[in-house]
Amino acid sequence: GQCAAVCPTGAIMVKNDCDKVWKALDEKDTRVSVQIAPAVRVALGKELGIGDGENAMGRIVAALRRMGFNEVFDTSTGADLTVLEESAEFIARLGEGEHRMPLFTSCCPAWVSYAEKNEPEVVENLSTCHSPMQMFASVIKEHHRHSSRKHVHVAVMPCTAKKGEAAREEFRGAGGPNVDYVITTQELIQMIKESGLVFSELEPEAVDMPFGTMSGAGVIFGVTGGVAEAVLRRIISNKSPAALQSIAFRGVRGSEGIKEAAVKYGEREIKIAVVSGLGNAREIIRRIKDGERYDFVEVMACPGGCVCGAGQPFVLREGRESRAHGLYSADRMSSIKRSEENPLMLSLYSGVLKGRVHDLLHVRYSAEREA
Ligand code: SF4
Repeated sequence: GQCAAVCPTGAIMVKNDCDKVWKALDEKDTRVSVQIAPAVRVALGKELGIGDGENAMGRIVAALRRMGFNEVFDTSTGADLTVLEESAEFIARLGEGEHRMPLFTSCCPAWVSYAEKNEPEVVENLSTCHSPMQMFASVIKEHHRHSSRKHVHVAVMPCTAKKGEAAREEFRGAGGPNVDYVITTQELIQMIKESGLVFSELEPEAVDMPFGTMSGAGVIFGVTGGVAEAVLRRIISNKSPAALQSIAFRGVRGSEGIKEAAVKYGEREIKIAVVSGLGNAREIIRRIKDGERYDFVEVMACPGGCVCGAGQPFVLREGRESRAHGLYSADRMSSIKRSEENPLMLSLYSGVLKGRVHDLLHVRYSAEREA
């Protein structure tokens, strides 16, 4: 299969990895696993004959299997790990006092490189947690480490910035990058078309075990406010359905570029900002420098979050909302709402992650790096 290059001269080409993935799929003894980011499932419908915003996860899984992938997973499972690690980090920092706050999320690589280049003083406040993509990749690479079969891991992501993240030194294991190839939603659409599958006629299938469970909290990572909401679900002590509702309506949902919310944590009032768009990130940093206090700041470079990533088919505002809606419905439909209730988490922590959490799930960003 051939993918069309963005620029015919190759001079300003965004790296297209379809050919490399097809090649890995053709290799006889290679195990090729793949993870699919939350935002992807609600964005490829229109191009493939179903509605935009419709959750096409089951069909994507079916398509990837027919294309030859041996194992198909959901990045939301990695997001559950990110929620657990980031909540723990947040609570630990709260205990260390004001000077350690706010904690900025770091799951958006475009924001991380922006901060490294332009806002060196916030780099120390970036969460040390790997993004869901990298957490999942660490786990799956570790899981197959002793197998004699060559293993290639692919991630389907909403943006090209994830290609840069996968290539970072920090995310390489002994045998190379933990994510060997990142393909965007657009590239996945291309590959599905090249494979000749009629997407709309595929019967939806479930992802593979033993890494096949995820919570609704993991799924909403794809929309602005989703990470903050998932972390809040984890840290509030009141676990009733009514409490879940009240988090949802406390201001973290909706597509405005800057949203603020406050929640009680013990005696303390936690102030949260949810930001999408780098201009808005700059604005929040300016406010912090002017003395405004925040404890947790979620930043996504794309307005609206990953549902509107640059690797996704283009949408107008209305389409953006239907994609967000698609992810919130997936959350409503999932029987596990909170990351800590995902039964897989317990077995990961007592299995592959035992004694390895720091190594496999955390990273230190540094402002000196040439981004
Ligand atoms: Fe990529 Fe945009 Fe999501 Fe950041 S917000 S991870 S740049 S799609």
